[in-house]
Amino acid sequence: MADKFDVIVIGAGPGGYVAAIRAAQLGLKTACVEKWIGKEGKVVHGGTCLNVGCIPSKALLEASHKFVEAKHDFDDMGIEAGDVTMDVKKMMARKDTIVKNLTGGIAGLFKANGVTALEGTGKVTGSKQVEVTDKDGNSASYEADNIVVAAGSVPVEIPPTPLTEGLIVDSTGALEFQETPKRLGVIGAGVIGLELGSVWSRLGSEVTVLEAMDDFLPMVDSAIAKETQKLLKKQGLDIKLGARVTGSEVKGDEVVVKYSDSQGEQELTFDKLIVCVGRKPYTKGVIGDGVGVDLDERGFIHVDDQCRTSVPGVYAIGDCVRGPMLAHKASEEGIMVADIIAGHKAEMNYDAIPNVIYTFPEVAWVGMTEQDAKAAGIKVKTGAFPFAASGRAMANNATEGQAKVIADAETDRMLGMHIVGQHAGEMIAQGVIAMEFGSSAEDLALSCYAHPTMSEAVHEAALAVEGHAIHMANRKKRK
Ligand code: FAD
Ligand code: AMP
Repeated sequence: MADKFDVIVIGAGPGGYVAAIRAAQLGLKTACVEKWIGKEGKVVHGGTCLNVGCIPSKALLEASHKFVEAKHDFDDMGIEAGDVTMDVKKMMARKDTIVKNLTGGIAGLFKANGVTALEGTGKVTGSKQVEVTDKDGNSASYEADNIVVAAGSVPVEIPPTPLTEGLIVDSTGALEFQETPKRLGVIGAGVIGLELGSVWSRLGSEVTVLEAMDDFLPMVDSAIAKETQKLLKKQGLDIKLGARVTGSEVKGDEVVVKYSDSQGEQELTFDKLIVCVGRKPYTKGVIGDGVGVDLDERGFIHVDDQCRTSVPGVYAIGDCVRGPMLAHKASEEGIMVADIIAGHKAEMNYDAIPNVIYTFPEVAWVGMTEQDAKAAGIKVKTGAFPFAASGRAMANNATEGQAKVIADAETDRMLGMHIVGQHAGEMIAQGVIAMEFGSSAEDLALSCYAHPTMSEAVHEAALAVEGHAIHMANRKKRK
């Protein structure tokens, strides 16, 4: 038996590495096991988020957005940029450098905080025991009073579209294209499908998104979802709803995709196809036989509100447990669990987790939609404000979208905030904080916002809840 630890964390994604750092900060002797092999053939930290998720996708979204701005919007501002072109390989190299810097940074944070980094595949072999097997097959067993499983998730594959090197790819493959495909198919109009579809559409691909469901972004307030759909369509994304992919055939350099919609069986041909139909927990093999940690039928580790599994002292967090598959949700669970292990009181407010889609404009939301609230029998009042009426949005050349506030009609308590607009992902923090503090819509309305900012639209939306928006005609009658 090798070293004994207070805490061993399995997985160094945003759930695991954050849990490990917090535990070490609280004085616990902590180790974190990671097996991800990076592009340079060595173990790297950061998990899906830093290696093939949040960060590389945002690097490509930012670069491709700047390209569109330079090509189409600069002229309006009097900037003559000449013939703007995109060097895809250079864009990819920049993305790789960002990933390398960030993943390398975690090793530095581990060192600074005294976290022991263990390289290899971790397996819970007992309620206080973890076995780590390195890439050469050598195993070592470690004892720990507490174990945190943060094994993450992997993309879902579907039988109609088996991955085919360079032609039919998942999100990871779509972050590696070295040239812009002419005709690009995307299966799934979820967050990842819309973001990756946007990147390549901006760079010149003809993008068709095939989505099985009839509703577009059902988790977003319908007014915001509708406007988003219109804006993405205007940008050239052909989003086909009610289109279920049923088969595919690789013919030379092309992929023929079969799908069924209300008209019957259809077919489309693409140069590349991205499968973005969701992610599943990556828990196979991480829990040894007989340990007693319960998994559900889809492979998620069963946990309570404080991420305790069915075995005392064993916790699980992030994408491998219930709840939204988001990096910040994983990190917050990591902090909560480390605090609990250190003997502190800790809990998480699952009702105030922000979501962002990094399209242009961004879509961001927290809490209930107007439809959710009504379905739950809650009487609501809402206020919305269009960016078209915002001075800052005009100056920014970003007048598309709106901010919407949803409040309880009786108590005025904030139930949700949904935004489509430039920097919506930054603005949504106001909604999160308001909800964390149990604020009323009036609390936001009575706050002083800097002028001119995009956030003033949130202020105006909060004012509009009582019909008091200043910069909007046709407002409700003052009470
Ligand atoms: P992961 O990040 O998946 O990390 C798990 C780690 O555990 C991995 O490093 C894995 O190698 C390791 N591991 C697994 N099993 C073992 C084992 N047995 N032994 C040792 N190590 C093991 N979320 C956002 O919040 N914002 C975004 O903008 C965003 N964009 C995304 C874009 C894309 C294209 C994708 C694919 C995802 C995106 N996500 C985003 C989701 C986000 O990446 C995940 O929610 C997040 O990474 C989950 O963190 P985690 O720590 O639970 O798991
Ligand atoms: P998300 O879970 O947000 O990543 O989104 C994945 C999307 O893929 C969901 O909206 C699913 O409805 C969609 N989807 C799953 N399977 C298919 C399929 N065979 N054809 C088209 N869309 C699909």
